[in-house]
This record gives sequence, C-alpha cells and structure tokens, in this order.
Amino acid sequence: MSLSEITSRIAKAEAAANRPAGSVHLIAVSKVQPDERVEAVLKEGHRLFGENRVQEAAGKWPAFREAYPETQVHLIGPLQTNKARQAFELFDAIHTLDRMKLASTFARLAQETGHCPELFVQVNTGEEDQKAGIAPAEADAFIKECTALDLPVAGLMCIPPVDEEPSLHFALLAKIAARNGLTGLSMGMSSDFESAIALGATHVRVGSAIFGARAYEL
Ligand SMILES: *Cc1c(COP(=O)(O)O)cnc(C)c1O
Repeated sequence: MSLSEITSRIAKAEAAANRPAGSVHLIAVSKVQPDERVEAVLKEGHRLFGENRVQEAAGKWPAFREAYPETQVHLIGPLQTNKARQAFELFDAIHTLDRMKLASTFARLAQETGHCPELFVQVNTGEEDQKAGIAPAEADAFIKECTALDLPVAGLMCIPPVDEEPSLHFALLAKIAARNGLTGLSMGMSSDFESAIALGATHVRVGSAIFGARAYEL
C-alpha cells in the first residue's frame, strides 16, 4: 500500500460517515522504519508522524524537522516519568497520558516551560493487565483531575485487544469522550482505521499500511 492509497481510503471513510473532508488526521507511524522510507513519505508531502519511543524519536526527528519544517511528531507509546521533559521538547502531542504521576509531572513542566504538548488520555478499554491506560470506570475522574491541573487534554486514545472486535472499543472510547466534553479520538490502526473513522476517530495511527511491514516489533 502507499500513502496516497491510505489518504483516499480515509477520504472515503469520512464521506461514508457524513463527516467533513479532512476531519481525520493521519498519523503516519514511523517507528522502526528505515530513514529512507520515512523520507519518501516526507517527500510526498506528509507532515504528521507518530513514534512510540522517546529515544528513537530523539535520534531521527530533529534532523528531519530541520529539513521539513512544518513536520509534527506525536508520541503514541508509553512514557516513563523521567523522560517527560525530553518528550515535552520533542513532541507536538502525547497520546499516552495514563497515570496521575505523569499528569502532575506534565503540569509542573508546563508551568516551568510555558508550553505543553496536546494531550490524549489513554484508556484501557479492554481492561487488559498488560496494557497501559486508565480503566474505563476511572476515566471520568482522571479527566477531571487533568482539567483541574489545567492540562490541555484534547481527547482520548485506545488500543483495542488484538482478539476482540475493535468497533466495540472505539464506541466505548467515543462514549467516554462525549460525556466528558472531549472531541479528540485517537483510535484506529492499519487494520481497522475505517471502522474507527465511522465511530468518530479524529486521529488514526497507521504504520505498516503506509511504510510496509516493520523489520521487528517493539
Ligand atoms: C505501532 C503502533 C501503531 C501502528 O500500527 P500498524 O498496525 O502498523 O498500523 C498504532 N498505534 C500504536 C500505539 C502503535 O504502537
């Protein structure tokens, strides 16, 4: 597949859901991909990328950003508190706000630096032990605490369990967002972004369908 194929499938999914053209942001997930593949997508004009490790992003994005100045990079993987400061410098948005300790660290850094990346609260919709995220039952209270800290929460993010119908999880995430007055929904990957768009995704995170299979999994 290719970037243009994915963007046209997104446009079709927007239209099918009666959503305005361009209402879905495509995050091209470039983790683990060789620099040549990433640069090819930059050359095609795409400017929004996702990475799931601070270290990896720090290695490749400063130079790419210099060459392609409008580029935005979002963190979509788990963040250790001791890397929060570096993440603040590197990323335009962080999709993995998943615990109170990280929220208070962000609030302190925001005060200190005068800026804060756009934030998404990760919700563990499948309540999986091995997965990060706030439990659905605790999401409302957590979002309120983040708002009380003046954090710029744009919306919610989820990664559905691999063996379940993703649309149930997308619908649950959309419901939690709606009742908390949040409009951003980071959901949908290579295999399911169209159903995520049907259920309101504003940010889809697509990796392998754009760049090809990753050489290894993180
Ligand atoms: C790797 C990753 C993606 C992209 O996965 P693909 O199946 O390659 O599209 C999306 N979201 C997260 C959180 C990821 O870690």
